[in-house]
Amino acid sequence: MNVNRKISAISAPSVVKTHISEIKTVDVLVVGAGPGGSAAAWRAAKAGYRVLVVERKKRIGEPVQCAEFIPGPMVDYARDDGVLSQHIEGMKTYLPSGTVAPSPFPGLMVDRAAFDRALAARAAAAGADIMIDTGLVALDATRRIARVRHDDRSSEIHYQLLMAADGPHSPVARLLGLPPLSVIQTRQYTVPLKAAYADTDIWLSDEFPGGYGWLFPKGGLANLGLGIDRQLKPDLKTPLEHLHGELVRQGRVGPEVMQRTGGAIPVGGLRERLVYKHTLFIGDAGGFTHPITGAGIAAAVQSGERAGLAAVEYIDGNVRALESYAEDMREQYGPTLARAVERRAELARHWRSAQANDDPVQRRGWIAFREYFA
Ligand SMILES: Cc1cc2nc3c(=O)[nH]c(=O)nc-3n(C[C@H](O)[C@H](O)[C@H](O)COP(=O)(O)OP(=O)(O)OC[C@H]3O[C@@H](n4cnc5c(N)ncnc54)[C@H](O)[C@@H]3O)c2cc1C
Repeated sequence: MNVNRKISAISAPSVVKTHISEIKTVDVLVVGAGPGGSAAAWRAAKAGYRVLVVERKKRIGEPVQCAEFIPGPMVDYARDDGVLSQHIEGMKTYLPSGTVAPSPFPGLMVDRAAFDRALAARAAAAGADIMIDTGLVALDATRRIARVRHDDRSSEIHYQLLMAADGPHSPVARLLGLPPLSVIQTRQYTVPLKAAYADTDIWLSDEFPGGYGWLFPKGGLANLGLGIDRQLKPDLKTPLEHLHGELVRQGRVGPEVMQRTGGAIPVGGLRERLVYKHTLFIGDAGGFTHPITGAGIAAAVQSGERAGLAAVEYIDGNVRALESYAEDMREQYGPTLARAVERRAELARHWRSAQANDDPVQRRGWIAFREYFA
């Protein structure tokens, strides 16, 4: 299959022509064409290996389940047409007392679907095959055989290495008998923004136990959402309606809801095993997402690229390459994620009590404040 056809298949999934039966044996099988999977596929395909990505969605990156913010250093990943929405300069944190604390927070708002498609197109251009509407359904990790389903037909894929880039609920982990990651739930509305804005707003209070409320501007629209630990408060709709209503009253956003989304965010830190039975865990599936902010795009791309490199080294004969991946990732992400897990545990002692609405408690638990790092 030539590259152009593969890229057009990504942007117009209905014209995917690859038949799964054409691909029986691969060097690297990637499950999930999110940012992590496409980054891993790109690295391994670039080195000339046979890479197959299976993605169960019908359109890569859709539906979008994201506030669409990436940090400034990710700018090189936002250069493709249609990816960049706007720049973000700062963060305004609303504490329970009503105090608003400004802080620098440079970054970019992206069209997340275009972002994911661009990464997938880069992997395809490097030679990776990408099958959409194709889900992993079974795994024999000892014999390294995966069963995938496409169009009511299932087939077996033999692989040397498997990349679990399959998101917060990681079916790969489940099929391997590994424990699920602890997650919080989110709910988000895309609403009209009444005036141009270059900051992100964050609300901390017991209204959002286990998480926070957010507004991320993107041109004439804004992503307004919240994350909450459902065990602390099962209802996400009422607090979001309340936040939305308040901002409408203030004249900052319009009452219309253009889009609704949500999804799970891992909040427990790194998975105990990032490498298991020739499988490398990447991005959300590996627990790379920040347990306090919920940010995970950059970590998914970075862990994906590093995992792709490890796959290349391993197949080239370096038997330690997979363990090195796990060690490097623990060294790079371990301390940051461990601090965030610790702060979550501290906050957990206060949610659903009056103390949760004390500013010092919230300052200690949020990345904009020096107390967080003390
Ligand atoms: C509401 C919300 C807002 C967020 N906002 C931000 C933000 O602003 N900035 C930020 O950095 N992070 C944000 N995040 C987190 C961010 O979206 C994730 O960290 C990121 O998507 C992780 O990328 P990934 O490639 O690891 O996983 P994913 O993007 O989840 O990709 C996994 C892919 O695997 C596929 N898959 C799953 N199972 C199978 C299967 N059996 N077979 C085939 N394919 C399968 C899925 O369909 C999916 O496409 C947000 C998350 C949510 C829910």
